[in-house]
Amino acid sequence: MKTLRWGLAGASDIAATRMIPAMRRIGHQITGVSSATEGHAAEYAQQHDIAYYTSTFDQLVAREDVDAVYVSSINRLHYSQTLRAAAVGKHVLCEKPVALNLADAWSMVRACEEAGVVFGVNHHLPCSDTHREIRRLVAGGAVGQPLGVRVFHAVQLPERLATWRLTDPAAGAGVPLDITVHDAAVLNGLLGQPVDAVALGTRQGHWDAAVDDAIMTVIRYAGDVLAQTHDAFTVRFAGTGLEVHGTEGSIVARDVMTQDPVGSVLLRDSSGERDLDIPDRRDLYEVALEEFACAVQEKGQPAVTGIDGVRALAVALAVQEAAGAGARVPVVTEPVARS
Ligand code: NDP
Repeated sequence: MKTLRWGLAGASDIAATRMIPAMRRIGHQITGVSSATEGHAAEYAQQHDIAYYTSTFDQLVAREDVDAVYVSSINRLHYSQTLRAAAVGKHVLCEKPVALNLADAWSMVRACEEAGVVFGVNHHLPCSDTHREIRRLVAGGAVGQPLGVRVFHAVQLPERLATWRLTDPAAGAGVPLDITVHDAAVLNGLLGQPVDAVALGTRQGHWDAAVDDAIMTVIRYAGDVLAQTHDAFTVRFAGTGLEVHGTEGSIVARDVMTQDPVGSVLLRDSSGERDLDIPDRRDLYEVALEEFACAVQEKGQPAVTGIDGVRALAVALAVQEAAGAGARVPVVTEPVARS
């Protein structure tokens, strides 16, 4: 397994809580961190024992001891930072949503292809062993023809994260780009081609949000399979889940739309009900990093490729537009050019 030397673009919470620990557990190195605010970068570097910090992103990515850049800045910076990293030959693992619009997102895919660098998107759920088991079951016909999927992903946004996600639409705020996009990364992998979406969102939290903080959605996939999602920043006690209902059986997975390697998967069919054994419970972010490192060695693909990330974004943007317009909106998965 190749050990990567990472440059962190963005002094973020997700890097601090999940990615830096995961990188270190699997023996990767962290060369430096860049943040728009010099003081924040310095404090963050000290807190996380990172030797180099800068407020100039280009200085970080130009370093010879950076093999790959982990982009976890606010959403509106993902596009420009990915392009600049690719331009100097650095591999990119970018946080979701990959970008704020499809034209930017496809440009990122093309730029990385042209530069010959690996481009992955850090959707953690497809890295989960529970989700991988569900995908195996569905692909192997355990539920017959899928008819409907229900996603329960309404959670409570921790107070420490109740900032730009709620207040700054230009930064990429809102539930569709934060949570529905994760659902889409799972649903696209399970069901294939998304067709169109309807949605209704609202503001129900205690904060003064500039965007909807709760949304219910129906997405239609090819073959008239319906997927229903409940995504929210406002629900404390629901727990998460994923259900796949088909002509021959149902999968009921509980506590699986999470960042931790937990949760149960039950299969119900004409022979009864059984809890499935999930022998591996690997950390989702370690899996993402390991598979990314394999891709750098040309021994596979990132767990979620750039194109997978764009397709997830396409669903989230259709949902966002559907909620705004009160109309059914097509999901556009074909490449879009920047005008
Ligand atoms: P944060 O709010 O922690 O950080 C986002 C940016 O805000 C930072 O990069 C930083 O900008 C700025 N910032 C944060 N705190 C301070 C501060 N005290 N002073 C100055 N600037 C500050 O974001 P998250 O970690 O929640 O999200 C980052 C990205 O990761 C997003 O794209 C999000 O969608 C994604 N994400 C992915 C998850 C997953 O499981 N895959 C889970 C959570 C988030 P600067 O870069 O300039 O330092």
